[in-house]
Amino acid sequence: MKVLVDQDRCQGHGRCYAIEPDLFEPVDDDGHSGFLPDGLSANDADLLARVAEVSANCPEQAITIDESESAQR
Ligand code: SF4
Repeated sequence: MKVLVDQDRCQGHGRCYAIEPDLFEPVDDDGHSGFLPDGLSANDADLLARVAEVSANCPEQAITIDESESAQR
């Protein structure tokens, strides 16, 4: 699983890291967001649910979850 933050869509208002500060953080002075954990397990249902919740709350639909096989590597 890979979590992608589309920097072209992200407007930097920070809802994602307000909801899940352990998973997302601002990566620049404009508040654009980045995803923190590396090497996520696709089997971690709790983590997937947390990311999905944040993704659903991003007004710009900037956060996507890639669960494809190539994203497992
Ligand atoms: S909620 Fe979405 S648009 Fe806002 S900072 Fe996070 S990723 Fe960017």
